Parts: sequence; C-alpha cells; structure tokens
Amino acid sequence: MLSENIGINHAQNQNSDGSDGSDGILHNINYPPKCYYCDEYFDSVGQEVYENHVITKHRSKPCYPAEADFEFYNIKPQGMHWEKPKVQGGSS
Ligand SMILES: [Zn+2]
Repeated sequence: MLSENIGINHAQNQNSDGSDGSDGILHNINYPPKCYYCDEYFDSVGQEVYENHVITKHRSKPCYPAEADFEFYNIKPQGMHWEKPKVQGGSS
C-alpha cells in the first residue's frame, strides 16, 4: 500500500500556459498593485511609477522578485505572474 503524505501538498503545478486569457493570474498587469517592500500602493499609477519607486526607495532590490527572493528579502508574494518560474511544455 502506498501511503500518501496528506497535508503536505504544496506541489501544485498550474497548467495554464497555452491559453492567454483571463484565468486566475493577471497576465496583463506588469507591476504589482502594492510595493513588495513597504506599504505604498500603486493601483493605477503605472508601471514606471512603481519601478521608479523601487529603484529610488529600495535600492538594489528587484522590482519583480522571483520565488527565491521572497525568503531572501523577507517579503510576501502577491500572486503576480513573474513570481513563479515559468513552466514551458514539459509535464511529467
Ligand atoms: Zn516601497
């Protein structure tokens, strides 16, 4: 009998790379609504304003942190599409 690990199941692969539409992750938004490093909001100010904020206020920190950066900088992911490593094709 195979005993599965119930409870620890954070290996969720999202298989939605073929269709580019409105499904779950917001692909058309190119910057986060809120700063990763402080409580500033950038809801509708534009990508340039956000990038300028990070570059000037949070020097040497990435505007678009990836998975590994969240632990490194002690920040929270916001569910943006650049946060997850892109899975192209291969499914095993
Ligand atoms: Zn900030």
